[in-house]
Parts: sequence; structure tokens; C-alpha cells
Amino acid sequence: MNSVKVEIVDKTETTMRLIIRETDVSFMNSLRRIMLAEVPSMAIEDVVIVENSSTLRDEILAHRLGLIPLTTDLDSYNLPEECPCKSEFGCNLCRVALTLNVEAVDGTRTVYSGDLVSENPDIKPVSDRVPIVKLVSGQKIKLEAYARLGKGKSHAKWQPVSMCIYKYFPQIKVDEKRCDACGECVKVCPKKVLVTVENKTEVRNLMDCALCEDCVDACPTDPPAIEITWDKNTFIFDIESTRALPVERIVLESLSILDKKVDGFVKKLKKAK
Ligand SMILES: [Zn+2]
Repeated sequence: MNSVKVEIVDKTETTMRLIIRETDVSFMNSLRRIMLAEVPSMAIEDVVIVENSSTLRDEILAHRLGLIPLTTDLDSYNLPEECPCKSEFGCNLCRVALTLNVEAVDGTRTVYSGDLVSENPDIKPVSDRVPIVKLVSGQKIKLEAYARLGKGKSHAKWQPVSMCIYKYFPQIKVDEKRCDACGECVKVCPKKVLVTVENKTEVRNLMDCALCEDCVDACPTDPPAIEITWDKNTFIFDIESTRALPVERIVLESLSILDKKVDGFVKKLKKAK
């Protein structure tokens, strides 16, 4: 196989779309699985509740806190299992404390993720607007929460990605000789990939094609004048970060984890000989 070719076709603050050529499904799926299950991020793991007079039970409150994505600093913190402190409670290198101290004084009040106060300004909720609980007059919550690095394979709250998918690169062929541009395929396509231009069916947004082949079924010509195939060695990879980590960091981190796995395997194999 030739060497892998990578092209960034779209990038925003939280998403990235890559075209990866000269590779195969097993490599793509390794990357996807590592992003989902092994790239660490920060999430609240322990909560000490001092006071909770809201209608939510302590466990539900703690569960909701755990699911709030937190901005992560991978370079300054250790995974608890790799931290030299070896302490169950954690230390400054493997734990961040966040406090929540809110009371509804007059009228109803919604408690948001933005009410959490972190001891480290670099580790805080990615958004201030995640609702946690509603309080009515007189209700109060006082708690201390401890965030830790963790992996998606232990709990989904540690997944740094909210979307991580790939598909084959689509190839659409319209047989101009047999296509009479009746427009049936244009109408049926759920992704609006096709258009009719001057009595011709043309492909507009090739990368949006979901390979559903509805256009082939809709074509009244027999055999159909449109054909959908895909390139088995080229993939469109879409990644969306929860904003816990920059999207490019997630990709790089997943590659270095894969690298370590392969290295470890080679070492074990050499030992076994
Ligand atoms: Zn530690």
C-alpha cells in the first residue's frame, strides 16, 4: 500500500472534516475507536455534597455534574492511575476542585454550569449555559466537585468527541447517453447531491452523498442511468469535539496512542521470541 495522504477540507472551532486516501477500514476504525475510548479528557468524578435542598437527589445532581464537558489541559495533568501520588483522593497533578454554592433568594433560579467556580481557570465548563437544576425560593446547593482525567472506555462522560464518523468516498456516474434528465433522482436524493442543469443531471455536493442509492432506485431507465460506487481506500472522516480539547489535538493524540500500542506490541513480540 502507498503512503497515506491526508487533506483537511473543512475546519471550524469544534469540527474537522478530513479526506484520507490510500488507507483501509481497519486503520480508520482504529483511529475512530481510540478517539472515542482512549483520548483522555477532564470530567467531574467525585462530588462532596455539603447541602442540597433542591428537588434533585444527591446522586442525580452528581450525575448531571459529571456530564458537563470541561476544558482539558492534557499537558499539566496526569491520569489518576499514572500519577506518582498513588492516592485515591488525588493531588494537584491529577485532580481539580470546583465548587458550587448557590441559593435561590427571591423567586425561581436556574443553576447553570457557569455557577461552578474552578480552582484552575484553565479547567472549567466549556459552556456557562448548561442547566443543572432549578431552585425555588429558599432552596440551596453547596458542594465541592473533583474533576479528573479519564477515558471514554470507562465512562462516556470522558469522551472528547461528540461525533466521530467516517464513510467511503462516494463516486457517482451518470450515463449521459441514457439519462433524459427527468429529475426523479434529483427529487429523491435526501442530501440534495444532484441538480438538473440544461437537460443534464449533474453532481453538485459529492461529499454529502450518503451512498443510500435512492437515486438508482428512482431512475425510470432500465438499467438505471445513474450508478453509485465508492472508493474502498479513500475515506471522509468527520470529527466534532465537545470542546474539551481542540479538535486537532484529539486527532494527534489518537495517533500517538495508536503509535504507542504498536510499539508495545512490537516490544512484546521481540521478548516472546
Ligand atoms: Zn496525583
